[in-house]
Amino acid sequence: MDCYRHPGVASTATCVACAQPICPECREEVAGHAMCHACVAAAAARLSAGQAPPPQADGNPGARSAAENQHLRNRSREQE
Ligand SMILES: [Zn+2]
Ligand SMILES: [Zn+2]
Repeated sequence: MDCYRHPGVASTATCVACAQPICPECREEVAGHAMCHACVAAAAARLSAGQAPPPQADGNPGARSAAENQHLRNRSREQE
């Protein structure tokens, strides 16, 4: 698959943020993950704004995080 920013250039990775195919020139390594420049810039802009993404942005975080915590507890219990 071609890089989404460079038609004709084969991609070697997929951006973990936007899931687009990216070539070595577009790839940046962030915490061990490949990201495209656009997503790195967007992430940097968010960080420099000093605002973490609002946790309630996607609906019902209380119920979901409680369910996730329960899931993690169940998993750790199984591993003991
Ligand atoms: Zn991206
Ligand atoms: Zn590219």
